[in-house]
Amino acid sequence: MNDFRASRVEVDLSAIRHNATRLGELAGAAVCAVVKADGYGHGAVEVARAALEGGAAWLAVALVEEGLVLRGAGIEAPILVLAEPPVAAIPTLLDANLTATVYREPFIAAIDAAGRGRGEPVPVHLKADTGMGRVGVPEADWDARLRQVVAAEGLRVEGVFTHLACADEPDRDVTDVQLAAFDRFLDRAVKLGLPAPVWVHAANSAGTLLYPAARRELVRTGIALYGLSPAVGVDAADFGLRPALRLVTEVTFVKRVPAGTAVSYGHRWSAPADGWVATLPLGYADGVPRALTNAAEVLVGGVRRPIAGTVCMDQLLVWCGDDEVAVGDEAVLIGDQGDDRIRVEEWAAAADTITYEIVTQLTARLPRVPLVDGRAAGGSR
Ligand SMILES: *Cc1c(COP(=O)(O)O)cnc(C)c1O
Repeated sequence: MNDFRASRVEVDLSAIRHNATRLGELAGAAVCAVVKADGYGHGAVEVARAALEGGAAWLAVALVEEGLVLRGAGIEAPILVLAEPPVAAIPTLLDANLTATVYREPFIAAIDAAGRGRGEPVPVHLKADTGMGRVGVPEADWDARLRQVVAAEGLRVEGVFTHLACADEPDRDVTDVQLAAFDRFLDRAVKLGLPAPVWVHAANSAGTLLYPAARRELVRTGIALYGLSPAVGVDAADFGLRPALRLVTEVTFVKRVPAGTAVSYGHRWSAPADGWVATLPLGYADGVPRALTNAAEVLVGGVRRPIAGTVCMDQLLVWCGDDEVAVGDEAVLIGDQGDDRIRVEEWAAAADTITYEIVTQLTARLPRVPLVDGRAAGGSR
């Protein structure tokens, strides 16, 4: 698959490595590189290796399955699974030396039993809910859960953490309220006899960049590791971060049309003048949002060209005006060409979503091509 196709996602691993280093400097903390969802669409294994080269101490994934992919590639760094998997996954998780996040009474009991069965306490990270309201020990249960883990001989609480709900909106006071709650939780942990955990962490990317008080010993950075903005109005470049992803293809068809010629499904666009229309061989089945219909630009010949009409499943069209582009010309949908750059943030704004959704929705049909210093780093996969 993909051998004939020009469309590809290039991933600049030098940028990932740089960003991991930069985030560690900026936070004055150890970095946990969040590589869930195939490294936010960038390729989890390659991103993980680059982040570790850049100094990241930890990796984090959403699923045991994602952790197994990293272990299968020979990665030995600590890997935190950010939510409890089903109890049935515990033996697999432990065999792969993945670190569980824990918060529910039955899951803690099960992992405690597994640790006692193995004759060695299992390191875990205990997650407190301080206001995200998703998963984590709710405040009403803090004492009971802390008593449970303090008494559990089959586990050792190596980390405690929480997750911020609104760090991307610095005008709101929710983050300060959450951090105060987290400190209350840490106090309760001391009072109830929990040995001091090695890793205390609270910050996601927005927390890391915007809330010094959230930084603690470890920061869990996802989107910022990829050089992308965690929040509207925040430019990752202002923090010295570099975007890593380029979405590239080649023109497959060109034609000159008279003014008024309509193109693509629904005839939602027609040529404003006589000129050239180019066809590109990728579409919403590759993850180009259909919402970009008439709403985004593509670089061809170093010039921004508007998407003309409806984004199709496998193709889209661009208006080139008087410029006669040629079949085979490079077209850049995300990233730089010449002196210009199209940013994921532009797509997110045009599609009324967030950078995270844009990059995680680039589909497996697009080969990921890792690059180091602009050169192929071991080919596509
Ligand atoms: C996804 C996730 C992160 C990373 O969030 P970013 O905003 O991408 O930095 C951190 N912590 C948890 C618990 C997550 O689920």
